[in-house]
Amino acid sequence: MRGRLIVVSGPSGAGKGTLIRAALEAVPELAYSVSATTRPPRPGEVDGRDYIFLSREEFEAWIREGRFLEWAEYSGNLYGTPEKKVDELLDAGLSVILEIELQGARQVRRRRPDAVMIFVRAPSLEENRRRLEGRATETSEALERRLEAARNEVAARDEFDYEIVNDELEKSRTAMIKLMRQIIRSPCEG
Ligand code: 5GP
Repeated sequence: MRGRLIVVSGPSGAGKGTLIRAALEAVPELAYSVSATTRPPRPGEVDGRDYIFLSREEFEAWIREGRFLEWAEYSGNLYGTPEKKVDELLDAGLSVILEIELQGARQVRRRRPDAVMIFVRAPSLEENRRRLEGRATETSEALERRLEAARNEVAARDEFDYEIVNDELEKSRTAMIKLMRQIIRSPCEG
């Protein structure tokens, strides 16, 4: 049986990555789609594991070649989901998690109406800001751009099938794992 396509979206700093890692560890039927990006690697990020790091020229060539299921510009960089790998994993019976921002999530919903859409957010934008500041991965200018995007993303949360408010990590982790198991077990409609 073909796996389910699962979109996890929500503001930068909401804790999507942490919850996704927990789900991937707990649920063997899940796989992670590694995105391509023109953003430079952060310390500790590995090419091919965290992202496929491309130059803007390479990324634009991939767009022309139709290699992306979706792509978007976010905070001055390009991000996209290579389509072929996703379909290979789905065909192998795995359910595939895409961790992507709002514009990309909307493209996936249009192109793959059977995708399940999950929104993850912090309990408030103030808490979101604290988490981004605590992570200290961005310049202050980039941090402000991400918070501006966060406001837009939270305003669109009704477009999603499920929402996880990541207030207490342990509780959210359990909720995420439970939701993933439920999605995998539910047959695809249509
Ligand atoms: P970051 O730079 O913090 O790794 O990611 C910035 C934003 O880009 C996050 O919201 C992340 O979910 C999103 N993102 C990562 N990969 C993709 C992708 O392939 N497509 C789209 N549209 N967004 C992505």
